[in-house]
Amino acid sequence: MNLSGIMNGELWYNFFAMNIKKFVRPNIGSLTAYSAKEIPCKVKLDANESPYGFEGIYKALKSLKTNRYPDPEAKSLKKLISRDLKVKPENILQGNGSDELVYYLITTFGGHVLYPVPTFSMYGIISQAIGEERIEVPLDNDFDIDIERVLLEIRKRKPRMIFLSSPNNPTGNCFSSERILKIIETTSGKSIVVVDEAYQPFASLKGFVPMLNDYKNLVIMRTLSKIGLAGLRVGFLIADKEIIKEVNKVRLPFNLNSLSQALAVNVMKNKSLLKQHIRLIISERGRLFNELLKIDGVVPFPSEANFILFKVHDSDRVYEGLLKRGVLVRNMKGVVNGCLRVTIGKPEENKMFLTSLKNVIKN
Ligand code: PMP
Repeated sequence: MNLSGIMNGELWYNFFAMNIKKFVRPNIGSLTAYSAKEIPCKVKLDANESPYGFEGIYKALKSLKTNRYPDPEAKSLKKLISRDLKVKPENILQGNGSDELVYYLITTFGGHVLYPVPTFSMYGIISQAIGEERIEVPLDNDFDIDIERVLLEIRKRKPRMIFLSSPNNPTGNCFSSERILKIIETTSGKSIVVVDEAYQPFASLKGFVPMLNDYKNLVIMRTLSKIGLAGLRVGFLIADKEIIKEVNKVRLPFNLNSLSQALAVNVMKNKSLLKQHIRLIISERGRLFNELLKIDGVVPFPSEANFILFKVHDSDRVYEGLLKRGVLVRNMKGVVNGCLRVTIGKPEENKMFLTSLKNVIKN
């Protein structure tokens, strides 16, 4: 390339460097990316992961063919999930994590997207990325759905999609089943209602899978992320087969890689260890909740999930104090002010969290 070519290249480069913001669609330019920073710590209790993994499962990879594309239908995995949830494979759609499925759903159905707040931030981020209007309705004082306001917004603004995370992240409670049903019934034939049951394995209520036959506009979302397989990125939709058929059109053909499929199948084949981990987490959650109640200046909120939201006097100071002692939790500033969210860890991790919290509060 001659000198003028290089000059031209440089000019182009500078042009883009200076103007790149102008080329971004406005809804993306004003978007704040999901924050998933890696913060160094000794005890990691910030991301609602399970403290228990499945180290022995790698033998499932022996027969893996790396030169072949993965099974585009994830048939073996779907068969196991269908047996587990007592639904047909044709009622299931696999995702690279359930957040990918939020993308697919909004891409498929479009329209205004309604969800209560505070809740899982990806409903809002993905709606904005796709360019759909967001209708955010604050929860009531008990962190339950404010049904009057939701019904009013439904009447006024006619959302095409409604997302209800139950148990809800970050509040930890299940929404009242009657209110969820009221929303599903009111919007029958008009909106798709997604009940996001990411934390259902830790809940005492049964969940909405048994209602699928009664409500054609109901979609359930599940994930393996909270029960020890967050690294595999495996999520599912369970819905009427007509809904699955439409959403499947926007799914990328090989969205669930062979490695994840093989490992998830291995874990799902024998669920005893998985169930044991869930029992341990639920029991630790009860213990941790009672210990938090005893600390002056700490107010924990009851949880049906694998984390606990708690209020403190100065959340920034407590967050920093915990981090200085090696314990990473989630600061919910700007989402539920004055609150922190702690994921249930192994007993020894929870102990370190509690000891550190007591020290921070005392000083
Ligand atoms: N739904 C809720 C309510 C969540 O809290 C999360 C993860 N934080 C997800 C979905 C996403 O899970 P996945 O890892 O399957 O994408």
